[in-house]
Amino acid sequence: MNTAATATHCPYCALQCGMNLVPQDGLLTVASRDFPTNKGGLCQKGWNATELLAHPERLTTPLIRDHKGADLRPVSWEVALDRIAQEFQECQERYGHDAVGVFGGGGLTNEKAYLLGKFARVALRTPHIDYNGRFCMSSAAAAGNKAFGLDRGLPFPLEDIPGAEVILLIGSNVAETMPPIMQYFDEQKRRGGKLIVVDPRTTPTAKAATLHLQNTPGTDLALANGLLHIAARDRLLDKDFIQQRTGGYEEVRRVIASYWPDRVERMTGVPVQQMVEAAHLLGKASTAMVLTARGAEQQSKGTATVLAFINLALALGKVGKPHCGYGCITGQGNGQGGREHGQKADQLPGYRKIDNPEHRAHIAAVWGIDAADLPGSGRSAYELLDTMGEAGGVRALLVMASNIVVSAPRASHVQERLDALDFLVVSDLFLSETAQRADVVLPSTQWAEEEGTMTNLEGRVLLRQRATTPAPGVWSDAQILTALAARLGYGKFFTAEPVAIFEELRRASAGGLADYSGITYERIKEKDGVFWPCPSPEHPGTPRLFLDRFATEDGRARFHPVRHQAAGEEPDDEYPLYLTTGRVMSHYQSGAQTRRVKALREAVREPFVEIHPTLASHFEINEGDSVQLTTRRGTAEVKARLTAAIRQDTLFVPFHWGGRGRANLLTNPALDPTSKMPEFKVCAVRLEKLARHQ
Ligand code: SF4
Repeated sequence: MNTAATATHCPYCALQCGMNLVPQDGLLTVASRDFPTNKGGLCQKGWNATELLAHPERLTTPLIRDHKGADLRPVSWEVALDRIAQEFQECQERYGHDAVGVFGGGGLTNEKAYLLGKFARVALRTPHIDYNGRFCMSSAAAAGNKAFGLDRGLPFPLEDIPGAEVILLIGSNVAETMPPIMQYFDEQKRRGGKLIVVDPRTTPTAKAATLHLQNTPGTDLALANGLLHIAARDRLLDKDFIQQRTGGYEEVRRVIASYWPDRVERMTGVPVQQMVEAAHLLGKASTAMVLTARGAEQQSKGTATVLAFINLALALGKVGKPHCGYGCITGQGNGQGGREHGQKADQLPGYRKIDNPEHRAHIAAVWGIDAADLPGSGRSAYELLDTMGEAGGVRALLVMASNIVVSAPRASHVQERLDALDFLVVSDLFLSETAQRADVVLPSTQWAEEEGTMTNLEGRVLLRQRATTPAPGVWSDAQILTALAARLGYGKFFTAEPVAIFEELRRASAGGLADYSGITYERIKEKDGVFWPCPSPEHPGTPRLFLDRFATEDGRARFHPVRHQAAGEEPDDEYPLYLTTGRVMSHYQSGAQTRRVKALREAVREPFVEIHPTLASHFEINEGDSVQLTTRRGTAEVKARLTAAIRQDTLFVPFHWGGRGRANLLTNPALDPTSKMPEFKVCAVRLEKLARHQ
């Protein structure tokens, strides 16, 4: 262990708060660090992050199951890796290269995400690689690419937020999910700025807003079109901007003409007067930002919903100018970098497209292979999981740092499909709900035990430095992939050394949209991170995008006409309520890590459902009662939490737990046709009170 403090970043969300790790009595403790994004602040998750390093439940040796139904037993790394290589080879000999799949995680460093993509395509030669980031912000990514020609979470640094006169925040509860970011919104408020929040729940973020539009789940798109209708009617549009920097407004104008306010009120539940107030606040401000997050994006029309809000921002001329812009608040730690560098089924490093011959040739040359040997596009995350074990689906799967049994939609089905695989390998820190079902489990290093880069929600590339030696018996994911590649006959193409992987990533990304070629570990350390694109060592990086031109061929942003459509499933007589899911402050994603941290576990011990008191009284449900939630996918049992902060027609369940309270037993895997994002945020549900003895 180093004796001095090590400057690094939190292992959890996309804010990637800077922190120092300080040795104390043989362990590491977290200390504040004055980093430009979080300015010393951390949330409860960050402050307690080191507790997992020496956690008693930590995996410290590979585990193997001799046959289906047998118990997992400890084995050496040699035995575990030999078995994996043999199973993958036999599977591919029997069914072809496509029969082995890879599922990654949005928490992997850029180096590991890059290596995993390369491993799938070079060592396994399979097209089937995707990651749980597909569940996180793929709709915003698809919309950003369509409208601006480029997808980067925020096209500006956080420090620009206080300078915006008005901010429209849709489907985001940042006050709970990433509390240190609230410094920027608080400062904006101090300067006289206004915050408009769109959310079916009166979250702590909504409580901090000037105006809260409490819409019906799944109606954000209609609301955006309604706001644009009012802005056009009341002559609030920036016609010069539309003419000089955009294309396609005429078609949008025709579509929004039918979104008159009374109609939109009936669709969304938002009063006309509130919509008018919101449209006027945005339209009359000299600077404004429009920010979306999972609430708007995790819908079967998520891409269209984000495009509707981008249309609004473009028509008001609030994009591509200082203290203005559309942005997506990324969720997972490296959700951004994970897809920039090839962990997504349709992308190659540097945001290159896997079906573009020039892009394929560039990456093949960097990897030293023939472009003809590069597989094409594979299945998206849920499609890959949905077809596991079936004819034409993958028969063997490598899961790296993802707990899909808890986090994937229609979780009981995903669990069945995992069990139908011939062979499942999981690399993780703990015996997660997914690892428990594996044939081989590999124990991997944690963030403080290795180095690597992460790309935060601003597009700022950061360096996580190693602060301690890995726990005995564990390997880094890069070591695992390199050792497996060697056993599969492709060892010469791989290295496990993070700096060497990053150097190769730089070359692979050179000339691509997400160009990292000018970024080095030294520059990141020196400058507290470097914003991509950064195409040369002399280039300062790009904190602000689109100020002069958009990344489209003609430099203009594109409007897209989009229409409201019902959610994949709307309430009916059998399932009369809306269900929406999300996060709480003290837990992160599937909870595989945060449920093992004492302070976080004690903060929220078990899954619950938020119910409006009026609805609860109808069912004679009291605070703390056990209730059953049923959808067309399954049933979950949780405790009732009564709160007037939720709409009377809507229930909210956080998704951090496995077992009978698993929210994703209920969710609908209806996919957005473009992004393939599942509809986590809205489905139809039935509520029942359970008898007391249950
Ligand atoms: Fe970590 Fe996110 Fe909390 Fe910051 S806000 S401490 S990055 S979990």
